[in-house]
Amino acid sequence: EDTIGALFDATVATHPHREALVSVHQGRRLTYQQLQTQADQLASALLRQGLHKGDRVGIWSHNNAEWLLVQLATAKLGIILVNLNPAYRVAEVEYALNKVGCKAIVAMPRFKSSDYLGMLHELAPELPRCAPGELASLRLPHLKLVVWIDVAGQGEDVPGTLRFSELMSRGQADDARVAEIAATLKATEPINIQFTSGTTGFPKGATLTHRNILNNGFFVGEAMKLTPEDRLCVPVPLYHCFGMVMGNLACITHGATIVYPNDGFDPLAVLQTVQAERCTALHGVPTMFIAQLDHPRFAEFDLSSLRTGIMAGSPCPIEVMKRVVSLMHMEQVTIAYGMTETSPVSCQSSTDTPLDKRVGSVGRVQPHLEVKMVSPDTGAVTPIGVPGELCTRGYSVMHGYWDDEAKTAEAIDAEGWMHTGDLATMDAEGYVNIVGRIKDMVIRGGENLYPREIEEYLYRHPKVQDVQVVGVPDSRYGEELCAWIIPKPGQTLTEDEIRLFCQGQIAHHKVPRYIRFVEAFPMTVTGKIQKFKIREAMKAELG
Ligand code: ATP
Ligand code: MG
Repeated sequence: EDTIGALFDATVATHPHREALVSVHQGRRLTYQQLQTQADQLASALLRQGLHKGDRVGIWSHNNAEWLLVQLATAKLGIILVNLNPAYRVAEVEYALNKVGCKAIVAMPRFKSSDYLGMLHELAPELPRCAPGELASLRLPHLKLVVWIDVAGQGEDVPGTLRFSELMSRGQADDARVAEIAATLKATEPINIQFTSGTTGFPKGATLTHRNILNNGFFVGEAMKLTPEDRLCVPVPLYHCFGMVMGNLACITHGATIVYPNDGFDPLAVLQTVQAERCTALHGVPTMFIAQLDHPRFAEFDLSSLRTGIMAGSPCPIEVMKRVVSLMHMEQVTIAYGMTETSPVSCQSSTDTPLDKRVGSVGRVQPHLEVKMVSPDTGAVTPIGVPGELCTRGYSVMHGYWDDEAKTAEAIDAEGWMHTGDLATMDAEGYVNIVGRIKDMVIRGGENLYPREIEEYLYRHPKVQDVQVVGVPDSRYGEELCAWIIPKPGQTLTEDEIRLFCQGQIAHHKVPRYIRFVEAFPMTVTGKIQKFKIREAMKAELG
């Protein structure tokens, strides 16, 4: 079994002159060989900065070349990379850095109105008075080094911090110690801590090994049939496993080209990039694909180079999948299902899956993994077609939640099954359908209602752009259904139109009692909709 560094070097040896990375918004292009040289130089610099195997190093940035370099350099040294969400603010980054004891952090200095260096400074006010490497902070007791990503030497120096280019210049690409250390690493050792999206509450830090994420990236690439000819557009954030594993590692294990269209999500930048870079594949969560398809300039772009890609992260509406196939030329698009704790993917359709299953299920269980559905009440495996909690076992299951044995034991049982908290069914051919999160299931008058089913129906309304259905407390029925709807641009919708649309088409008790029209949903930076916030807003409104 290989480590990430060893596998990367093997790809470089086979395809040294192929393009590895295009960071469109930075205007940077690197071949596999150039990427290797820079990653080795950075690894050498990190060593000289006193960072070693097992140390935790945070990265707090949108997608850029530096992110990938840090990923590869830490992987070669056995340093545990800690992905930090760019949406985190002071208290959240403080929690995450201290939870895992980060010794160093690489951050973008600022982005739009967010001042990342400023937030770190707030946590470490002594920062300006320290010499580089001597940072000492009461609120961040483990942190010794702050590196900020500078644009080609621009920006003013900040005392107590190092600019990325300066850090790089302290390393040597042919530092023999890097290769020595890389050769001692084992695939079963932790290499990454990823915080879950926080869709249902506080993010949890999942500890992942080389074996976990490298194999997952490989099988994800296999399902898409990636080759060195492929160019994968990655608008999904690297801070999340979707970008880092299903984007970066899927490409690296197949010698394909990684393309970052932008920092932060912008549908127009994605459309422009796919056309200009002739991308063959495109990733996204459903809300990203919807934003691209509904962009007023969508029709101007030539997307005919697209072939495949992955929609994942939250329920993928069939209507949206069909539009992606027909309007974006992604005839071989696949859906993947997974979670941070399982590296992430456990089910995925492949490019050969029949179209109806490809748009209407999350495919079959990935190779070398086991999946079962169990009754949340009895723990017994549910019959074909009957929803149960999806459990996964195999190489992809995380090492555990960092420094949290109790939570780990709650999630992974004694037999090694990861309990996902998601309800799913499997059909006789092994195709899996995600019904929704157990926590999102609505029990109205003793009857189990699955918001997903109602959302799928409402998506068919021609004026509906996006819809979310949740349960809200009700004194009579226990819970009642509530739909939040975003109308298509330029359209107005009324409650009556929606009720009429449901009449006679879906069971009376599935027609949402409350219907609200909104401009946006509360979302995580990964584009996942936080239903708990919708529930909270409704509770506040209904009193
Ligand atoms: P948190 O655990 O912090 O509340 P999260 O569960 O959203 O956040 P992730 O690990 O990023 O964090 O997401 C995994 C979850 O996303 C899964 O448990 C599942 O609910 C949902 N999900 C992922 N892919 C799909 C899919 N294809 N269809 C439906 N749901 C999906
Ligand atoms: Mg989760």
